[in-house]
Amino acid sequence: MDFQLTEEQRLLKSTVREFAEAELRPHSREWDEKQAFPREVFTKLGELGLMGVTWPAEYGGSELSTIDWCVVLEELARVDAGVALSVAAHNSLCSGHIALAGTPEQKRAFLTPLAKGEKIGCWGLTEDSAGSDAGGTKTTAVKDGAKWVLNGAKTFITNGSLADTAVVMAVTDRAKGKKGISAFIVERGTPGFRSGKKEDKLGVRSSDTSELIFEDCKVPAANLLGAEGQGFVDTLRILDRGRIGIAAFAVGIAQGALDAATVYAQGRKQFGRAIAEFQAIQFKLAEMATRTDAARLLTWRAASRRDQGQEHTVESAMAKLFASEISVEVALEAVQIHGGYGYVKDYPVERFLRDSKLATIGEGTSEVQKLVIARSLLGRTTP
Ligand SMILES: Cc1cc2nc3c(=O)[nH]c(=O)nc-3n(C[C@H](O)[C@H](O)[C@H](O)COP(=O)(O)OP(=O)(O)OC[C@H]3O[C@@H](n4cnc5c(N)ncnc54)[C@H](O)[C@@H]3O)c2cc1C
Repeated sequence: MDFQLTEEQRLLKSTVREFAEAELRPHSREWDEKQAFPREVFTKLGELGLMGVTWPAEYGGSELSTIDWCVVLEELARVDAGVALSVAAHNSLCSGHIALAGTPEQKRAFLTPLAKGEKIGCWGLTEDSAGSDAGGTKTTAVKDGAKWVLNGAKTFITNGSLADTAVVMAVTDRAKGKKGISAFIVERGTPGFRSGKKEDKLGVRSSDTSELIFEDCKVPAANLLGAEGQGFVDTLRILDRGRIGIAAFAVGIAQGALDAATVYAQGRKQFGRAIAEFQAIQFKLAEMATRTDAARLLTWRAASRRDQGQEHTVESAMAKLFASEISVEVALEAVQIHGGYGYVKDYPVERFLRDSKLATIGEGTSEVQKLVIARSLLGRTTP
């Protein structure tokens, strides 16, 4: 057991921190208000190797570990959680599904440009009536000669209106239930595929969240991703990894809120003293730091197990559950430490609070994480 980052990891951390401070922080408020960040940000992240952090070099990736991936996401989310979420969905979900289930030809054709940041990816599982119960997918894919014909719609898809490449789950055999769900790669420009409504959100507003719509959308048979009927099983494996990323994302928001509150408390004077001199404020900072660190350790444990090829479903769920819940608490305390200034947009902490809530919902709500953990304790199969 070693709780230290290696020298390379510390260098990675400082490189991403410098990037986030220089390229993201000056624009975060504007991007939050406008609900968008420029596409060039993806290009720059690609140049740094952050759009394919863990994928093999032969497919354009940086071949780093899951712990490295956590370091990257934490540093991005510490400054701009919207950018971090878009990078997470691109890496963990879309590229992750192709890396897990793709053939060498599919990886060459689709993963390589994603890993280099030349293309943007999204991953469509959720539907308006199939959220936590993703097995209730209604979108269909019907074989027609050398094509699959997709019909249906996906809701709340990160990067949904920007993505060049979408991985989409659809029912190929209704009689088989969850074992009748398959995954497909759909490229932007395919007739019958378009983006729908863009969501106007509480937080992570710089990240695009949109519908995907499929109307008699014909994709080549070669775009079936993984075996027919394997899509939902692969989805659970993708989420095991994705949840480590959302936990790191939540740790980053908590760290950003803690850093902002620590600086503010030392500068703000009331009753002739910096408010950091009051024990009530010191105790808040101490609690915030302890919770953030505990969340980080749970996250790194799950990442470490993944890197060692060990089972990590429960550890990912625990990390995601704890980190997401504490990020909301820590951001809330940061607002409190800022007093009235925490409630206005001149300071970033109100944004951290709005952003943090997403971590308790995306890639499985806190309630779903508790189901995963409890079912394991009780020896039942995970949902
Ligand atoms: C900003 C954002 C980005 C997203 N990005 C993506 C993406 O890229 N791709 C994608 O596929 N999806 C994405 N999602 C969708 C996200 O994964 C779902 O919103 C989430 O899984 C919850 O589904 P739901 O919204 O339908 O809520 P519901 O499933 O309707 O849940 C509503 C409430 O009921 C509770 N609940 C449901 N079932 C149970 C149960 N069995 N026991 C106890 N409580 C239960 C939930 O915990 C929740 O509190 C995104 C969502 C958001 C908000």
